Amino acid sequence: MTAPPTTELRDAIAHHWGIHDLRPLQEPAMQAVLSGRDSLVVMPTGGGKSLCYQAPAILCEGLTVVVSPLIALMKDQVDGLISCGINAVQYDSSKSLQDRLAHEQEIRQGKVRLLFVSPERLAQASFISLLESVTVNAFAIDEAHCVSHWGHDFRPEYRQLKGLQYHFPNASFHAYTATATEQVRQDIIEQLGLRNPAILIGDFDRPNLTYRVLPRFGSVTEQALSVINRHQEEGGIIYCLRRVDVDSLCQSLKEEGIKALPYHAGMDGADRAKTQEAFIEERCDVVVATVAFGMGIDRSNVRYVLHAAMPKSLEHYQQEAGRAGRDGLPAECVLLHSGSDFFSWKSMIEKSASESGMDSVYLQNAIKHLNSMDNYCRIANCRHGMLVKYFGQDFEKKNCNSCDICLGETVAVENATEVAQKILSCVARLNERFGVGYVISILRGENLKSIREKGHETLSTYGLLKGHSPDELRDWIYQLIFQDALAQEEKENLEGRTFSILRLTRTSWEVMRGNTTVNLSKSTVERKSSAKQKKEKGSLTASGPDQRLFEVLRQLRRQLADERNVPPYIVFSDATLHELVRVKPKTLSQMRSIYGIGDNKLQQYGRQFMDAITNNG
Ligand code: ADP
Repeated sequence: MTAPPTTELRDAIAHHWGIHDLRPLQEPAMQAVLSGRDSLVVMPTGGGKSLCYQAPAILCEGLTVVVSPLIALMKDQVDGLISCGINAVQYDSSKSLQDRLAHEQEIRQGKVRLLFVSPERLAQASFISLLESVTVNAFAIDEAHCVSHWGHDFRPEYRQLKGLQYHFPNASFHAYTATATEQVRQDIIEQLGLRNPAILIGDFDRPNLTYRVLPRFGSVTEQALSVINRHQEEGGIIYCLRRVDVDSLCQSLKEEGIKALPYHAGMDGADRAKTQEAFIEERCDVVVATVAFGMGIDRSNVRYVLHAAMPKSLEHYQQEAGRAGRDGLPAECVLLHSGSDFFSWKSMIEKSASESGMDSVYLQNAIKHLNSMDNYCRIANCRHGMLVKYFGQDFEKKNCNSCDICLGETVAVENATEVAQKILSCVARLNERFGVGYVISILRGENLKSIREKGHETLSTYGLLKGHSPDELRDWIYQLIFQDALAQEEKENLEGRTFSILRLTRTSWEVMRGNTTVNLSKSTVERKSSAKQKKEKGSLTASGPDQRLFEVLRQLRRQLADERNVPPYIVFSDATLHELVRVKPKTLSQMRSIYGIGDNKLQQYGRQFMDAITNNG
């Protein structure tokens, strides 16, 4: 197949999507589809993968079949395409028989440009014969890492896709994913049987995201509020590890007047769907969720993702945090970390491996991932740099200006070694028989019955670090564990319950003797009162008349979205609204040059938005 000239492609993209510049790998990715060469495209979440197969589809004569793992994901894309004036169809079991028959007819008549289906659907003989009756140009396989059991979302149905080549020898196959290590990439190529594919690996950095890691304090609510208050009336996701944490945090946030809803696998399907819809339709600002939430969420104006605890791998973190700022505008990713997260995950992983009979390679692999995640939280290096390098790319910038480290939000503790010596001596005086909580109580000189019963208030280390909060001391203890200057060991009591105690290591003694130094750090933004928090970097909201105009346009967008029964971002993205506020177009042709306004949207909404700008600008 000969690819059409680049200008034709660019004109079509401007016409339909109002996008005037392509991102670096989008063009070669589109050319691969247009010239009929198989491809593997790896770009981060929000990198613009969809356009790589959507745009060529409108220039090709035949049909493009998009394989997607989730109905919610398909619906979002189909709504988006229709709003850009492109005939796209989702064919799945949620549709009535009548709808499906109508779709079949449209497909046969060659009226459909893009057809969205699940991998299971493509395993059905009757569906294959339907597709065989038309010309299929390309198969676009979204979330292609699902084909690999090395990936983090293995879906066995994806394996059957390889068989499609037999039925459609003239179609090209294109795999798209955001998370693929070298091993997963090779596996995708092999499992899908891609033939001499163009391999296009995008830039993994997301410069619009500001990453922060903060030590987790007793009340997650207070820390969550300080993030939420920086983003008033903007969308955000808070991830918790357990369902109980979701419910209690969500409840506390509601009591503080925040429009928050829960989402976890313990809720029934209808309630989960309600939360999801409310969030997509912007009737709810915050979703507090377990990781069960997110895969089907395409809301592009999520302004922050807060992790109330550390995820188990950087792959998971990248995917979850990556749901922020898909529209390319500034967004914030905050991770609340405690040294105990590592140990909680480790025991969960070990337990599930032994229960499910996983081999030792799996276990080692999982622990390796966990270690990398923990390093990310503890090492005071640029977070953008660490993430990008983890995914196998170079990072040239000296200062990213968008992570807590480069923004100077963490500082080294001045007399770290002396502090460490006090902590370690306390562990030594307690004969290495107690856990973190008790050691902290002794160091702080707490007046507790349990301490007096053992006579520990007479220890020389009692009250040695009186002025420090339990959270701060806990954080330092885990920093020492990370540096091997202290160890944590699991023990079993007489009733068979496990508990952990602190043990000294060889390095501990070196530190206590003054032969080795250690580094400790603390955050400088730790405990601002949430109520007093001002909007900071990461928040987009302008002030004054522009802010008012933005609100007017946002209301108009919501009204138009409600009338059409689509989410607001399908009408216009936040990026488009911001540009409208900045440029304040006075004519339709000025309006047409705004990002995100193609001809179809210009015709549908142009006049109303222009009037709103004239009346309120
Ligand atoms: P992915 O599938 O890689 O996660 P999407 O395809 O959903 O990302 O794209 C994320 C956002 O970026 C969408 O709002 C899309 O319209 C926008 N986008 C895609 N390509 C461009 C581009 N070249 N310029 C500006 N915005 C783009």
